Amino acid sequence: MPIYEYACQDCGTKFEKLIRRDSDLDQLACPSCGDSHLQREQSTFAPKMGGSKSSAPAMCPSGGMCPTPGKCGMN
Ligand SMILES: [Zn+2]
Repeated sequence: MPIYEYACQDCGTKFEKLIRRDSDLDQLACPSCGDSHLQREQSTFAPKMGGSKSSAPAMCPSGGMCPTPGKCGMN
């Protein structure tokens, strides 16, 4: 289930909303001011489209900095 992030265009409040069905979209309103002038931001779980899929540095399976580059399979 997608979680969308919205920004209220009236008061600037940002919030996340779990959308289970289309009717949830009709009931969307800012939790702060109750307005429905909302701008949908990038989905939390949506893959970035059109970009490189490895913009983050490779992580060693041992976690963090690899003490033996080339031996952990990430190099
Ligand atoms: Zn608002």
